[in-house]
Amino acid sequence: MSKRFKGIPVSPGVVIGKVYLFETYKPRIRRQTDRTRRIEEEVKLFESAVRETHQEIEKDIEENKKNAYKECADIFETHLLILNDPDYLTTKVIDKIRRRRMTAEYALREVLEGLTSKFIPVKTAHLREKETDIRDVGQRIFENLLNSKRASLMGFEEDVVVVAHSLAPSDTAQMCKERVIGFVTDVGSRTSHSAIMARALEIPAVVGLGDISAHIKRGDTIIIDGLHGEVIVNPTKEEIASYEKKRQEYFSFMASFDSLRDLPARTQDGYQVKIMANIEIQEEIRHARSHGAEGIGLYRTEFLFLNRLNLPSEKEQFEVYREVAQIYAPYPVVIRTLDIGGDKFVLSLLENPDEPNPFLGLRAIRLSLEHVDIFKKQLSAILRAGVYGNLKVMLPMITDIGEVIRAKEILQEVADDLRKRGISFDEDMEIGAMIETPSAALTADLLAKEVNFFSIGTNDLIQYALAIDRSNERVAHLYKPFHPAILRLIHSTIIAAHRWGRRVAMCGEMAANPLFTAVLIGLGLDEFSMSGVVIPGIKEVIRSISLVEAKDLADKALKLERADQVESLVKERLGKRLENIFGAIEEA
Ligand code: PEP
Ligand code: MG
Repeated sequence: MSKRFKGIPVSPGVVIGKVYLFETYKPRIRRQTDRTRRIEEEVKLFESAVRETHQEIEKDIEENKKNAYKECADIFETHLLILNDPDYLTTKVIDKIRRRRMTAEYALREVLEGLTSKFIPVKTAHLREKETDIRDVGQRIFENLLNSKRASLMGFEEDVVVVAHSLAPSDTAQMCKERVIGFVTDVGSRTSHSAIMARALEIPAVVGLGDISAHIKRGDTIIIDGLHGEVIVNPTKEEIASYEKKRQEYFSFMASFDSLRDLPARTQDGYQVKIMANIEIQEEIRHARSHGAEGIGLYRTEFLFLNRLNLPSEKEQFEVYREVAQIYAPYPVVIRTLDIGGDKFVLSLLENPDEPNPFLGLRAIRLSLEHVDIFKKQLSAILRAGVYGNLKVMLPMITDIGEVIRAKEILQEVADDLRKRGISFDEDMEIGAMIETPSAALTADLLAKEVNFFSIGTNDLIQYALAIDRSNERVAHLYKPFHPAILRLIHSTIIAAHRWGRRVAMCGEMAANPLFTAVLIGLGLDEFSMSGVVIPGIKEVIRSISLVEAKDLADKALKLERADQVESLVKERLGKRLENIFGAIEEA
């Protein structure tokens, strides 16, 4: 008999396929050896993991040399030196095992954690880099020691639907679109980064399904309806036939938007806004254009940094940014500097995962201002790539004007250095700030003086203003973009920016939901940025309304006391039109 589940729909489309059960990486770290094991056995285990790591690194060097990736080969050569030099890691770990009678993995973790405190006061780029390299090597030994490498979501030989308890953004970033045709998870919400990645990959996904992963085995058949949040495990023939029909209907619905691609996002009374795309992975760069994006409003560059033990070099970043700049020229591309932290971790910055409250921790601009060498490399790559198109740089998670001022100083230092070295770069690159914390929204008048534009990140703005963890499905029902606090924060941000002649974009998911479009236009938003796949639908909504009615709607919405009242008002005014475009409307 089939089993039905209902969750949060996060990426549209219908898919029918075979289950691949993905187990999350959870290494078990024991502190003490048990009585039956000898300390010397722990030492031997460690030494054997070091040998294994040695062989792996040698293989990496060989492969990179074969493929002419000299820079990567050089990095691995350094890793080999670190591994071979007892002073860096090995002696320290063995010493701890023996003196403090620890397990090998515990001793290794302590040594790696000790690196942070030891290196933090040291500001020279050289030692910072070394720290990262030591961590990379340590992480590899770790995986070999625990014999628990992260399961991979690559290399499938047939199409699969991934079922998991949870998926980190680094997991979803590994997914190969050709083979992973959809995914479902026990946890998550619409604005968790794995959900954002599903839309980036344009594969159907449902999250927040409770304990679905406990009810499924590998090879089961599964249906995902990413529009309505329905999931069926081991469906009957009738259910398969019915969902096959829905799948076809969804294709026709999407195809019906094709004619909109080159039309402007202009209201009936001639008010025009820009619709841009959010991108995360390189594959999307070209797709966004095919959906009619007038540029890239948010390039989440952190995805370049995930799933690798080394950080991307300036050259590697420069090449990627140049490619996006060239593809989109003369349209703008907003490159957001690293937003690591929160739910996005980089293997090579091992200290992140231990934070008790990662969304309130060393995230985004805070991390960049701590790791100035990494930040400078990224800024340099962006400035240089700017010569090939219309690039802008944007700072994530700003909470204080001091962060913007410091980031601009660093940008200036990078520019001065490039100038001194005679390297060409964009001398007039615009700089923008994300407005995604209540403090940024409330000080928008101060920030506006320092930047050229704003982009409102509602995923975080709502999380921080309403105190709702954006990745927690248990509070997803409290995540309300129409909450008066949110409408007021957006409204005052736009007013402050316009007073200074600054444009305001929105790149959070609120910009991608047709229920909010008219109110946002009425509040004065200048640009929308969203996953490519939803651009045509939002454009159709904008073309079906007038600025006059949008302003009236926004004025009335601002006077209401509760989110559900605003939602009812919008449905009363626009419900029929939205239904004509999308069919039955989902709840906000
Ligand atoms: C946001 O917070 O709304 C945003 C666009 O950034 P991210 O989702 O990457 O945090
Ligand atoms: Mg954000």
